[in-house]
Parts: sequence; structure tokens; C-alpha cells
Amino acid sequence: MKKLLLGILLGLLVEIGNAQNLACSQALMQINNDSLLKKLQELVGKSPVIIDNTSQYISSRYAFHPNNILAAKYLENTCTSYGYNIRKMEYSGTGTNIIAEKKGTIYPNKSIILCAHYDCVGGNITSFQGADDNASGVAALLEAARVLKNIDFPYSIQLAFWDEEELGLLGSKSYPSTGGNLPEIICVINLDMIAWDGDNDSLAMIHVIPKLPNTIGYGEYLSNIAIQHKLKLQCFIKNPGEPNTDQQSFWDKDIDAIGLTEDYDRDFNPNWHRYSDSIENINLNYFFEMSKFAIIGLCEFSMSGATGLGSEIGKEISFELFPNPNNKVLNFRFEPKYAPLKIELYQTNGTFVWEKNLVQDEKNSIELPQELPTGFYFCKVYLKGDLVKIFKLIVE
Ligand SMILES: [Zn+2]
Repeated sequence: MKKLLLGILLGLLVEIGNAQNLACSQALMQINNDSLLKKLQELVGKSPVIIDNTSQYISSRYAFHPNNILAAKYLENTCTSYGYNIRKMEYSGTGTNIIAEKKGTIYPNKSIILCAHYDCVGGNITSFQGADDNASGVAALLEAARVLKNIDFPYSIQLAFWDEEELGLLGSKSYPSTGGNLPEIICVINLDMIAWDGDNDSLAMIHVIPKLPNTIGYGEYLSNIAIQHKLKLQCFIKNPGEPNTDQQSFWDKDIDAIGLTEDYDRDFNPNWHRYSDSIENINLNYFFEMSKFAIIGLCEFSMSGATGLGSEIGKEISFELFPNPNNKVLNFRFEPKYAPLKIELYQTNGTFVWEKNLVQDEKNSIELPQELPTGFYFCKVYLKGDLVKIFKLIVE
């Protein structure tokens, strides 16, 4: 009975893991274009915001413009109204990051971060909208806060609004990634400019970096989410990705981070860092779709701990495979009564790659095929046909 139940449970988890998560599909339906547009208009000073019981306009988010502080208050108030815990990080005399946090129900000490910088270029008095750079990313984060507020996630989520990116990534650089009671970061997804599509090719650029091989897997996993949820976007993985934005602050600390942006290479926004980067000069439909992508990405990553699969399947079997990352010879360890176990490797997009039966002998090791490309794989372990474990394997 126990075994049968386990089999059914595992089958279910795998179904959920391979398809899109139901709660995330429902969240996707809650994302509202009018709500996104309203947030964008408020961020660029087109619509008033109520702060300290006063109706005011955020006429600029430039670091040294007085309304930069107004923008931070607006972010704090909005996320508080949705029920998030707020950490306000005043890291210098002029810089303030706002972090909205929702604790995970199973792994509160591990988190996925979705982030965007809220400052923009400009002058101390002049009004600059910075609509694409980066009110667009910030509006997506605020809509994420709204539609995900009632979902229980196994892993913690953090929505991080960085200040002073335009002065040299100052806000994100100052983020203390470990220590205190901060959760460990599994993966960071950074949004910087998600509202320009001059050639109407719907390209979504995902930025990864070779020195952190997990990022390649996470990038592929994110692009797979766009396909699963049938978003009207074409993903392109840029490797190595753009360094001149906040993901670099995490890459510098060897923390897995990926970027999600418009096409920086073949369709760069001609209004970038100009007065003309205004709400009138962006592609709203593309912005709506990219916002959906970012939000659904955060949702799926936080449901699965960025594995794309149900977590902690089959705790009964203690099975170890090492070293991980690996360069072609895998050692394994499990109780002899479970032999033979079968392992299967899959690419992050679900394509089957390789399988092997594990029989215990004096070596307890196997060789991966020589032609196996380096990268990030899902390793599934089967006992008599039942899936008992799934984990990430990095081949170097
Ligand atoms: Zn930017």
C-alpha cells in the first residue's frame, strides 16, 4: 500500500513538474494590462500617487532628484499594501534599496529574487520618465507583488528594487547577499528594460554567464517556461550576457543570476538615456508580455526551487552521486538492497540524453559519455520503474 501510494504521488509530482504549475497558471490569468499600465504611469509621473495623504507626481527617479525618495516611498507603500514584509536598506547617504519579501512555507531560508533598478538617468531639476529604463522592470515587479500575494510558495521570494544602478550598480552591489537572517539566494532574475521592440520580433533576451554554469540551466529553464505558458515571445539566450546592469553585482560574488531584457544587440532602444525614453515611445503590448514572462518565471522558479520539478521526491532512498559539478566520472552511493537503480539524464528543456543502470561493485562509479556537452542536466533516479529522486547535475 505504501509503495503504491508513493508511486501515485511521485507520478503526480512529476506531472506537475513537467507541466506548468497550476497556481502559476492561475496567477498568469490575474495579470492585468490596465494594472500594469497604471503602475507604469505612476512611476513615470504621468499619474499621481498618494503619499503621506497627499496626491503627488513622481516627476523623476534620478538619484539626486528629490522625487527619487518619493519613488522609494511609493514602492514601499505599494508592497506593504499587498502584505509583504519590507526591508528598507539605506546603504549610503543617498541610496535606498527597497526589498519586499514573502517567506517560503517549506524552505524559508532559500529564496528566489526578482529585481529591477528604480532610479533613472536625468538631472537634479529636469523631469525624466525613464519609461523603458527602467520603469518597465519596476512596474512588472509591482504587478508580481499584486498577483502573487496570496500564493504559498515553498521557497521565499524577494522583490528587490535597487537604487543608483545608473551611478554604477551601487544599490545591487551593496546588497549583503549572505549573513544576518537573509535567506540564501538560489537564483536572481534581473529586469532592466523590458518595453522596447522596435522591429516587432518579440525577442526576449536572457542573460547568462559561462563561469556560473547553473545560470545556463536557469536561462534554459526560463525560456522553457515561456513555451509552456504559451507566451508570445521568442527567447534568445545571450552568453555571456550584458555586464552593465545589476546581474553583474551578483556574478561578481559568484551568485547565480540571470537577466531578462529586450533585445540589446540588434534592436537597441534609440531613446535609451534620453529625454525621449517616455511612455509614448515604448511598445506596450511587448511590455505586457514581458511582464507576464517575468512574473510567471518568478512563480515557477519559487515553486520548484528553480529545478522545474517537484522537490524532495522520494526521501526514503538515500542516494548520493558525486562530485557535482562533475567532469565525467560519477561516483554513487546507496544501500545495496535498492540495486539496481537506473539513472536518466535530461536536458533542462526535457529532452532525454542518457541512461545507465547502477550496479554496485567495488568501484561504485560510472563514466558519463565522452561526447556529453558541459552544462546543466536533470538527473532522475528510478527504482524498479518508480521515480525516486530528481536533482540537478552539472557537467563541467
Ligand atoms: Zn537600466
